[in-house]
Amino acid sequence: MKLSIIVPCHNEEVVLPELLNKCVNILHKLSIIEYEIIIVNDGSTDNTLKVIKQLITLNNKVIGVNLSRNFGHQYALSAGLSLCTGDRILIIDADLQDPPELLPDMMQLMDEESADVVYGRRVSREGETFFKKTTSHIFYRLLSRLADVEIPNDSGDFRLITKRVNDQLLKMPEKQRFIRGMIAWLGFKQVPIDYIRDKRYAGVTKYTFRKMAKLAIDGITSFSISPLKAAITFAFFFSFISIILMA
Ligand code: UDP
Ligand code: MG
Repeated sequence: MKLSIIVPCHNEEVVLPELLNKCVNILHKLSIIEYEIIIVNDGSTDNTLKVIKQLITLNNKVIGVNLSRNFGHQYALSAGLSLCTGDRILIIDADLQDPPELLPDMMQLMDEESADVVYGRRVSREGETFFKKTTSHIFYRLLSRLADVEIPNDSGDFRLITKRVNDQLLKMPEKQRFIRGMIAWLGFKQVPIDYIRDKRYAGVTKYTFRKMAKLAIDGITSFSISPLKAAITFAFFFSFISIILMA
């Protein structure tokens, strides 16, 4: 069995060596010798690329992917997913907020449940602002109300998926890729695993308000026609009012 680990990163020079260290230790404990760690540099402006190049020389199972500019987390992740060759694929953030230590339990759960997706569900979030926690809470509840598919609450992209899920995911032509929603849409057996989301190992969030808002809009507009219906209702309402005013 070959395992692929995909790490999208934007300005993560400080956290990458520690992440690699932890991942390699866990893979060693699990006796997984066939693996690849794909680190995607999403247009970083710090020394992330330099650090990735150093990590490649230390471990020949690390693969560096360098995007031509900052495209955003979901695109960086898509680039990694399109290149990986593992039988199972772990999607993880660079900042250690998604604990690599959960991998053994995720693998076990996947075996026991014969699942194709094991997704991390955050039971609590440490070190994040009240604003972030509140907006995220509202977003997931709104999404599950509006979306036509069941997208799990309080889970990011931290998940273990099988190759066949990734193969289908890569066939989807969507341009605005809301990966967690697309994986939910694909079906297969998907099981949650609860975890406490720690604070960032170092650095600050790379999700600016603008990027967060874009992700939320992509999520809702990709999985629900409610915004379209609302636009049509408003259009009819205002044309009706204008006809009356004209008269
Ligand atoms: N990230 C990325 N491109 C971006 C923004 C973020 O690849 O434009 C990566 C980032 O390096 C991290 C992951 O996406 O590995 C999640 O970002 P972050 O931890 O900053 O988000 P938060 O946990 O605060 O929601
Ligand atoms: Mg984070």
